[in-house]
Amino acid sequence: MKVIDPHIHMASRTTDDYMALALGGIHTITEPSFWAGFDRRSADGFHDYFHHISVVEHARAARFGIKHYCWIGLNSKESENLQLAEDVLKIIPEYLDKPTALGLGEIGLNKNSRNELNVLERQLSIAAERGEMILIHTPHLEDKLKGTRMIMEMILNEPRLQPSRVLIDHAEEHTIGEIKDKGFWFGLTLYPNSKGSPERAVDAVEIFGSERICINSSADWSVSDPLATLKCANEMRRRGHTEDLINKIFYENPKAFLSQSPKFEAA
Ligand SMILES: [Zn+2]
Repeated sequence: MKVIDPHIHMASRTTDDYMALALGGIHTITEPSFWAGFDRRSADGFHDYFHHISVVEHARAARFGIKHYCWIGLNSKESENLQLAEDVLKIIPEYLDKPTALGLGEIGLNKNSRNELNVLERQLSIAAERGEMILIHTPHLEDKLKGTRMIMEMILNEPRLQPSRVLIDHAEEHTIGEIKDKGFWFGLTLYPNSKGSPERAVDAVEIFGSERICINSSADWSVSDPLATLKCANEMRRRGHTEDLINKIFYENPKAFLSQSPKFEAA
């Protein structure tokens, strides 16, 4: 089977992981910018990081026959440092110009704080001015619904941004309905210890349908599984879903969303 994983952090993974992705049929992946597990000290750290995901990982993936794209942005955790944010916002356009960069991401909210909202708003204006696509990170904890609503409102209030070109990630049962109703794409994240098992993701497909849904591993530097999408596809198969539907969820849907960027081409 062919799979696109639209959210995976390969900068934190090994070459063995690349080989496993290739053997499993995951031949196209996109890597959002994220928190490195620690707060970076200056914008120089972001220069190196954006170079890493837009150039270095692209080349590393290519050695395994995998197409690698990235998303550029300042994550919500580090948005609390407004001076750092100021400096990072200045360098974002340079990296959005890279042929592998699909848009702004993962940007969004973590604690729904004032500083986070301020920096998110500014990144949304960069996206609006440049006509970029967006990949949104929503809070993981109890503030998820509130944060998701705040983000959607900000996007819907900007007439130059279209919900059909925005994917709202880390959605859960209590946020999917509103995200879909407003015309956005939504992502379900498979994580071994939190954020959703394959069973829970397949339940969501059965309840909410197969339109505008993408399923991802979000594999990163923490406990996570780069092959989670394959395990979820297998759970669909076990429950008797058709290969057509499995192909739609894990290949055609992310392809349709990502192909809205002229830079994207699926393997
Ligand atoms: Zn992520």
